[in-house]
This record gives sequence, C-alpha cells and structure tokens, in this order.
Amino acid sequence: MATATETGRQETAALASPAPAIELRGISKAFGPVQANKDISIRVEKGTVHGIIGENGAGKSTLMSILYGFYKADAGEIFIGGKETLIPDSQAAISAGIGMVFQHFKLVENFTVLENVVLGAEEGFRLTPSLRKARKLLTELAAEYELNVDPDALIEDLSVGHRQRVEILKALYRKADILILDEPTGVLTPAEADHLFRILEGLRDAGKTIILITHKLREIMDITDTVSVMRRGEMTATVKTSETSPEHLAELMVGRKVLLRVDKKPAQLGKEILKVENLRVVDEQGVERLKGIGFNIRAGEILGIAGVSGNGQSELLEVLGGYAEATGKVSLHGEELDLSGAESDAQSRRLKGIAHVPEDRHEEGLILNFHAWENMVFGYQNDPKYNKNKILMDNKAIWDETQAKMDRFDVRPPNPRLNAANFSGGNQQKIVLAREIERNPELLLIGQPTRGVDIGAIEFIHQQIVELRDQGKAILLVSVELEEVLSLADRIVVMFDGQIMGERLSSETDERELGMLMAGMKQGADA
Ligand code: ADP
Ligand code: MG
Repeated sequence: MATATETGRQETAALASPAPAIELRGISKAFGPVQANKDISIRVEKGTVHGIIGENGAGKSTLMSILYGFYKADAGEIFIGGKETLIPDSQAAISAGIGMVFQHFKLVENFTVLENVVLGAEEGFRLTPSLRKARKLLTELAAEYELNVDPDALIEDLSVGHRQRVEILKALYRKADILILDEPTGVLTPAEADHLFRILEGLRDAGKTIILITHKLREIMDITDTVSVMRRGEMTATVKTSETSPEHLAELMVGRKVLLRVDKKPAQLGKEILKVENLRVVDEQGVERLKGIGFNIRAGEILGIAGVSGNGQSELLEVLGGYAEATGKVSLHGEELDLSGAESDAQSRRLKGIAHVPEDRHEEGLILNFHAWENMVFGYQNDPKYNKNKILMDNKAIWDETQAKMDRFDVRPPNPRLNAANFSGGNQQKIVLAREIERNPELLLIGQPTRGVDIGAIEFIHQQIVELRDQGKAILLVSVELEEVLSLADRIVVMFDGQIMGERLSSETDERELGMLMAGMKQGADA
C-alpha cells in the first residue's frame, strides 16, 4: 500500500500533468520458481496507444492478467486515473473501465453478434431491452470506428477478424475506456491487421487508451505512441516510439545487438529436387484439404509457402514428411515417392533424404520427457552408425554427437542429459534443427521455424537455413509470419483454401500483394 509520503509525491505529480490512465507500481508475480513479473512499474498516459513488447515468456500476458483481475499480484499497486484501485476479479476491472480482447476469443459460437455483446453485461438477463439498446449502440460504434459487423450474424459464421471486432464491441459496450489487446494480429491476415489498426487509431483519437501487446516490432513502430519493453519478467525500458528504432527495440528485448534482416546472397539455382503434381488430401471428415496443388523446388532454393494458418499448409508438410497419405505425384530427384503405400511413412522419407522440422515440435518434433541426447536421434534411431553391435544402441556415439551439435547450434544449456521439456522454446527448436540439418538432407521441410522463438535465436535459425540453401539443398519453408517468408524465401507460393493462389519471386512482390492472395483475392492481386 502507498505510504503517506508516496501519496504526497503522487499528488504533487498529479498537479504537474494529468493522471495517467493506468499506473502500475512495483508489481511482482511468481508462479512457483518462475518470477514472471519482477517489480514492474509503468505509466500509461490517457489517449495513447501504449505498446508492450517482449519475447515469449517475458511476462507480458501475466502483467495484463493482473491488471484484468485474473491473477493476484504478490506485491504492488494499481492506479486507474490516479486512484489506487483493487482489482480482485475481472468484474472489478470492467467496473474500472478496462476491457480486454483475448488472444483466444471467448465468444459463444452459436449466438449472434448482438447476443454475445450483451451477454453478461447486464445484471439479470433482461435480454429484449438490452438487445434493442445494443443494436443501437452497435450501429453507432460501427459508424464511428469502422467496426462493421452484422449484429444478427452467428459468431460461427464470422471470420477471425470479425470475431475480434465483436470482442472490441463487447468491451466498448461495457463502457471500457482502456482497451487491452494481447497479441491481436497473430490470427489475422495483413489486411485484417491493417483494419484493426485503423480501428485502434480511431479509438485513440476519441480519447480511449489502448495497450497493445505484441512481439512484432513492425506493429509497435506502426501504431504505438509509447512502447515499454519487457525482458525476463522485468520492464527494461519505456520510450517514445518516435524516438526509437526496430534495431534499438530488438536490442532492448534481447539484451544484445541483433541482426534483423536476413543476410543472403542471390540464389544459385541447380537442378530440380522436388516436384509436386496434382496433390490431393482428404481429411477424416471427408473434407478436401489440398485440392490438387503443384509446384517444384530446385537445388539451392528456398520456396516459401505463405498463407493464413489452416489453408492446407500443415497438410502439405504432413504429406511430404510421411505423416499423412495423399493422391497425386511427388518426385524427389525424379524418383516418385510412395504417397499411400508401405513406404509412405516418416522413416522412409528421412532415409530418402527428406529432413523435417515439424510445425508442432511438441507433438512431432520432440519427446519432451526424454533427454536431449535421445531426442537428437529421434527418427534416425535405426541408422547403422548408432547400432554397431546390432543389439544395443551405441550411446557413447550418440552422446558425443549430441554434444558437438549442441555446441554448433549454441543450445543452452549445452547439457545432453536434460529433458527436452526443460529447454526454452528457442532451444528446443535448435535441438530439432540441429538433428535435421546436420543430416545434410537433400530436401528440408521446415514448418513455422521461429514460432515461439526469441529474436536472438531467430537470427541464428535463419542463418542456418540460408547456409543449407547455399550448400545446394532444397528447402520448403512454411510460415504464417509473412515477414519471415518474404525475407527468407527466394520464391513464394501463396495458399488459400487448399489451393495455390499465386506464385511470386520474393524480389518482385510485397506484403500487400501477398496479403491479397492470402485473403483469396486472386483477381485483385493479378490485375
Ligand atoms: P509472455 O506473455 O510475455 O509471453 P507470460 O506472461 O505468458 O509471458 O509468461 C511469463 C512466464 O511465466 C513464463 O515463464 C511462463 O511460463 C510463466 N507462466 C505464465 N503463466 C503461468 C501459469 N499460469 N503457471 C505457471 N507459469 C506461468
Ligand atoms: Mg503472452
């Protein structure tokens, strides 16, 4: 609690400048041994967009959960509009004028937009008068902030971008003056993200205060007025956006200088390595996930697959990696692969020289409760070099190899005996990459190479991929991060609804054009 002198100081400060919308003082929160927030203090001025940036696990969501009453801080105070406010639950946060737009929307699928907006906002469930009032308000908000959504549409029929608008409407309907958005663009197409930013700017100009949490430097530079940086549970800096740069922010996030651009020479293309023709996949529900796609990749080339998550990219990786069956034709070096028979499994693919860094490393890439050294041969355990006496595996050989790979890939800590689960996301990814890349494959399939990975490790992972390309290997890169595809790939194929919407050379396209293809607008983009 504030002491008398602190309160006095605060009142003096209040005379000098208007009270901030939010002020947090000395917030700390631990989860067991993990200190998620350490003595965090921050001021968020009224009528601004305040960004909070930090790597995965920096403590951003925890801090916002405290502000929204989901978690109780171990220490610290919250001031709203200059007044100390206790926020024991989210009802208290809403009463204090705080609204939260969640990463995973909390809408009722088979209710309409209108019903969702009203739901829970009223004391009792006086639906009819509430609905009339809400409909009017929705119309007004739609006009004012470009928040157009059909009030009578069912949530389940809406796109992700529209669902997010409903979340914003819900908060505004509850009279939120302060809006918190936690990683809001992760699920959006570039055009939807742009639209969201216009909405946020409109809200800010109308005097609302916005807290935008993201790990994307570009979004911070685009839309925020002020940015605070978190690193390992601490608030390391708060700066005016106009007075900083992406490079500076990256350095503050990671604690050292980081190369943000991928450094690569023009591709030296060799012969065709992979050829895919008329590839079709039907899932267990009978839905066609890949609708007859085709493309090729040459030696020394990185082919990027861009697209909003869920448009067939995962199925493509699974088929090529030997985890799912398909029809059509796939050839490696002109030799046709078995897509649905005895040899359509992951082991056979690896033996043919196709390495695979799966999208979901927890499900397919690692066995979390096995040691790092065991994981280092996962998928390759039948390789003769580990099975010298044909009965027991040669653990010494595997161990030595693991140590060497850990060194080369800078896995931290470099301890082969640690369980895979005990490494951070970035280091887990490095273990999988080390295993797959060091096989010197002809073709590397790589899904979401930097998902959940911090900026420092991203730089390293990108360098390894480019190095493999420059050794004349073929690489298929699938990523929902458009920036990553644009900077890494030599050529880009855009997928939408199980089809290929277009193909571009990276050097001859941009985010806008790819974004239109990602949204399924072929005509617009080609015109
Ligand atoms: P960010 O949002 O910046 O990625 P989080 O606030 O989600 O970071 O997490 C900060 C740290 O706290 C991480 O190490 C995370 O594993 C840990 N953490 C977060 N929530 C919980 C929880 N409910 N239980 C245990 N640990 C948690
Ligand atoms: Mg988070």
